[in-house]
Amino acid sequence: MAVKSLIKYEVERDPAFALWVTGVIGGERIRNCIQCGLCSASCPLSPYMDFTPRRLIHMSREGFRKDVLESFTIWLCTSCYSCTVECPRRIRVTDVMYALKRRAIEDGVYPRRFPIPVLASEFGAMIRRNGRVTETWLVFRVFLKTAILRLLGMSKLGTKLFLTGRMGIKPETIRGRKQLQTMLDAVEAHKKEMAA
Ligand code: SF4
Ligand code: SF4
Repeated sequence: MAVKSLIKYEVERDPAFALWVTGVIGGERIRNCIQCGLCSASCPLSPYMDFTPRRLIHMSREGFRKDVLESFTIWLCTSCYSCTVECPRRIRVTDVMYALKRRAIEDGVYPRRFPIPVLASEFGAMIRRNGRVTETWLVFRVFLKTAILRLLGMSKLGTKLFLTGRMGIKPETIRGRKQLQTMLDAVEAHKKEMAA
């Protein structure tokens, strides 16, 4: 994936987003970034990212919300922590990446046909619903939303796995689903309170 070369304009900035990013776990020191680029140089995935980690950090703190949240960069990050270890200003770049992923899902602005955010989103929704993940349904839903033609091509294999008992279709659940949902609702309410 080529690194984007974009001219950015003041009018595109979202100051509320810039403020938000300084309040997330890992973002406390984001204003101390000196744009040295060590994070990008140490990142094994940066050649494939649309914005390098250095650039993403800068765009985040300047409030370019749309570009940041729609980027592939945050989804390509494998959380190897190399950038965080190398950063001379002790900025927890990896944790910022996590926060941006969560925000992208919450705002529904992640790349729609890219499997990684869809997987994360479906995983979270399934845990909320059932308390557990049923791999068959998770894979089915991710392919349905990102590569439906490949799903059709895999139907023969899927049928074989099902007939030999290697793939269950019964959703796995836990006993205390209501309690889990109550807990998750409380966490969400707390997050909203903190953000207000
Ligand atoms: S290594 Fe740290 S200081 Fe340097 S550009 Fe990356 S985040 Fe900024
Ligand atoms: S944690 Fe993510 S952004 Fe940082 S070096 Fe690893 S892959 Fe790159």
